[in-house]
Amino acid sequence: MKLEINNLSKQYSNGVRALTDVSLTIDKGMFGLLGPNGAGKSTLMRILATLQDADSGSAILGGTDVLNNKDEVRKVLGYLPQEFGVYPRTSAIDLLDHLALLKGFGNTKERKEMVNYLLNKVNLFEIRKKAVGSYSGGMRQRFGIAQCLIGNPKLVIVDEPTAGLDPGERNRFYNILSEIGENIIVILSTHIVQDVRELCTQMAILDKGKVLFSGNTDDALQQIKGKVWERKVDKAELSHFQNEYKIISSKLVGGKPLIHAFSDKDLNNGFTKAEENLEDVFFVKLNELA
Ligand code: ADP
Repeated sequence: MKLEINNLSKQYSNGVRALTDVSLTIDKGMFGLLGPNGAGKSTLMRILATLQDADSGSAILGGTDVLNNKDEVRKVLGYLPQEFGVYPRTSAIDLLDHLALLKGFGNTKERKEMVNYLLNKVNLFEIRKKAVGSYSGGMRQRFGIAQCLIGNPKLVIVDEPTAGLDPGERNRFYNILSEIGENIIVILSTHIVQDVRELCTQMAILDKGKVLFSGNTDDALQQIKGKVWERKVDKAELSHFQNEYKIISSKLVGGKPLIHAFSDKDLNNGFTKAEENLEDVFFVKLNELA
């Protein structure tokens, strides 16, 4: 199954153009939608999750018109929104059971089996009887994934899922997601480059409602190969370098700025070639350095 998005546009009533002619082809596997805050990621995710209408364009999921057959799409969709509200006093097992019932699983025995299976899958079975409100951020996100998976979806959409998770929780979350992504389409929307680097083979970069890049992550890296240079500088020199070079990023390493610069030609002057990474691609595209 494939998701084909063609020329999707959306303008809010306050005049903000959240999406302009967005076209993407998304295959089975993990797809990373990377963009800074305000890029339009949530708007796109909500449209694909049938919660919002687009002004124009189309999205076709394996032959089904997403924008005009919402009920059809909802049967094969799992969605973890950015703000996932829960009933805090309800236990995970009861809440999941309730959500499965709402999704149309009327047969009690089958539903219970599915709920237990999902709680196991996201490693919450041991604490299934605890109130979801007492869960840590990571546990709550794992619960969010469990509810996404009710009914074996073909398309799973997760919006900024790792914000606020500590590294251990983030790893557990990554592992669950990548397992899911082996068989179905998973779209991961995030402003965190590391999420995409670790999980996704396909990706797009969105900024100001427009697609700046789409393709596989290796191709993205290939586009800047051999053109990223690095150098440690003194803090006092930083603005000089920012004026003289196409600076991709500047990070403190041991208290001293380490800059990455973009150049087709050799940069002498103390620069050495850096191993290009996805964060370089992100900033090169965002700041139109190439
Ligand atoms: P992201 O998820 O990448 O942070 P969003 O899709 O939330 O981006 O927002 C894209 C743009 O649309 C932003 O400028 C945001 O302020 C604006 N926006 C989002 N939702 C609404 C809304 N309901 N009404 C008006 N403007 C909105």
